[in-house]
Amino acid sequence: LQNELESLRDRETTTIDGREITLAANIEFINELPQVQKSGAKGIGLYRTEFYLLNGGELPDSEQQARVYTGVAKAMRPHQTIIRTLDAGGDKLSAEPLTHNEPNPFLGWRGIRVSLARKAMFKEQIRAILKASTAGKIGMMFPMVSGLREVQSAKKIIDECMLELDKEGIDFDEDIDIGVMIEIPSAALMANEIAKEVDFFSIGTNDLIQYTVAVDRVNPYVADLYKPTHPAVIRLIKMTVDAAYNHGIWTGVCGEMAADLDLTPLLIGLGIEELSVGSHQLPSIKQAVRSLSHAECSAMADEALRASSSPEILSLSKDLAMKSY
Ligand code: PEP
Ligand code: MG
Repeated sequence: LQNELESLRDRETTTIDGREITLAANIEFINELPQVQKSGAKGIGLYRTEFYLLNGGELPDSEQQARVYTGVAKAMRPHQTIIRTLDAGGDKLSAEPLTHNEPNPFLGWRGIRVSLARKAMFKEQIRAILKASTAGKIGMMFPMVSGLREVQSAKKIIDECMLELDKEGIDFDEDIDIGVMIEIPSAALMANEIAKEVDFFSIGTNDLIQYTVAVDRVNPYVADLYKPTHPAVIRLIKMTVDAAYNHGIWTGVCGEMAADLDLTPLLIGLGIEELSVGSHQLPSIKQAVRSLSHAECSAMADEALRASSSPEILSLSKDLAMKSY
């Protein structure tokens, strides 16, 4: 089986009726790059930079960060590397020692909220990403966006950084793709407005599910209620894809849901164009995509959108997935 999967490496990720899906990899550390290259990933869909930035001690400065991001961009050339800006907080490390504990860290000082409140730190990272953007194709993505204003504020800071780099005579890609993670229900509901501001959406299902059904993603006492196929989650994904489509941008999924073989038909049917998964999961997802019909997946997704329970939706997707095994 391993050999069979390896032989798939250079094959396209296209459904039997010709719909191309971009299969990208998620990384947390740059030592994963050789594995990513071996997997045949068409880029990095999510580079979680908090694992590098908050790896103990001082935050790396802009120069140090630029060297690391440049290395990743070069390694992945000609494919795109999507660098997510710091997503501190929640169950993750915090960006700085907090003076008091937050009673509800998942609803607290996290992701883009931290970056916008610590502008100097945010600019160091943005400048580094911009500097690296001449070494390969880079996308910059913001985590934990809850609405339009945060996107506009972040873009203003990017503009400032661009002006400064210009003045300093430092090269960067002026057309660098800017994207946001859709992982808070309010962002999915505002996707039409947000889509006007960005080049792509990447749905973070780990958080989107958590915030939609109000179930802490790491709390075993409520794990039973954490359902990727909850009808509300499916509808929010659909809303996001539709908004993106109407504004000519693409939507990917980079949460764990993208790596669930039972749900590949559902995501493809909902119109997802990119799946970003751990590199070890990539070959089996590729095989699944290659055995599916986009038309059948779409018809199934339409039915799933009319369904009213999670088991019903799961079984609709699973039926198609099983047919393709
Ligand atoms: C997600 O929320 O689905 C996601 C990909 O981001 P993270 O798991 O890093 O929060
Ligand atoms: Mg997330």
